[in-house]
Amino acid sequence: MDEVRNLIIIGSGPSGYTAALYAARANLKPLVIEGVQSGGALMTTTEVENFPGHPDGIMGPELMDAMRKQAERFGAEFITDDVTRVDLVGATEPGAEALKTVYVGQTEYFARAVILSTGSAWRPLGVPGEQELLGHGVSSCATCDGFFFRNQHIIVVGGGDSAMEEATFLTRFAETVTIVHRRDSFRASKVMAARALNNEKIKVEWNSVVEEILGEDGKVVGARLKNIQTGETKTLDVTGVFVAIGHDPRSELFKGQVEMDDEGYVKVAHPSTRTNVPGVFAAGDLVDHTYRQAITASGTGCAAALDAERFIASFV
Ligand code: FAD
Repeated sequence: MDEVRNLIIIGSGPSGYTAALYAARANLKPLVIEGVQSGGALMTTTEVENFPGHPDGIMGPELMDAMRKQAERFGAEFITDDVTRVDLVGATEPGAEALKTVYVGQTEYFARAVILSTGSAWRPLGVPGEQELLGHGVSSCATCDGFFFRNQHIIVVGGGDSAMEEATFLTRFAETVTIVHRRDSFRASKVMAARALNNEKIKVEWNSVVEEILGEDGKVVGARLKNIQTGETKTLDVTGVFVAIGHDPRSELFKGQVEMDDEGYVKVAHPSTRTNVPGVFAAGDLVDHTYRQAITASGTGCAAALDAERFIASFV
């Protein structure tokens, strides 16, 4: 059998790199299989103003590069490729360790413990202008970006609890917030919907979808809406478009191997990061419906490394 590693970390966002840093400093020599798109969600953004320790803000890619370097300095190893298959339960001979196998194509890697930190993906609208203007007026995170939209006119797309929460939160900054929703009532809970509807800064465009996000000089200057009942179109002069139609955890690879909730988020025994499979830990947005922030992902990444370290120590 090839080399058996102490720890493999799958994913390279703030949770994976923080786990790598802690595990490397604990002398576990972790192997991080970081994905083809290494660095995680913050690689797609510009300025991050709420990661502590950076009083003047820091560009997302710069922050991720620094996290990677910090883990590397203490001995973390990296493979910039996607994991294609995992066997997390592993061989269980009586009295023997249940080694985990992680596959990258045809190559197998063996480990005593694995940390899952593959994050989640926000659901895009898939309309023209959205990808080009991401981080320049288009956002998927009110907590992250709300502050940039002071005294501006913006829209929030969606009709669930997240959309209501984001819209209500954004009224602290924006002049007006228009919720664009494809139906004639919200899917959100009554309390959340009422809170949004009673807010005088919030308006609603019912039965409507965004057809295109309009940009000028690389910044959002409007959104073209279509009423799907009447077919009528109109353009709203907005400088921000918050997409709040949901997130999908990237857990496909682990289905049938670790316990998940109805939405596919990996279940952990809070406050630990233990999954239902011994030696398998999970961190970051892959387990998190609620906070979805770089600092919370880093926090659970740290916890996962400490949990994994204790687990591995129990074999030595
Ligand atoms: P991610 O950062 O999503 O990283 C997951 C990693 O797993 C990726 O590197 C991916 O390539 C890898 N991966 C996936 N599948 C595989 C596979 N099969 N094999 C190997 N690797 C795999 N938060 C803030 O706190 N402040 C902000 O200002 C802020 N701005 C944001 C702006 C944008 C545009 C977005 C999208 C998010 C923003 N966030 C912000 C949220 C923050 O980025 C996330 O909460 C955080 O990145 C989650 O970290 P994570 O480690 O769980 O996952």
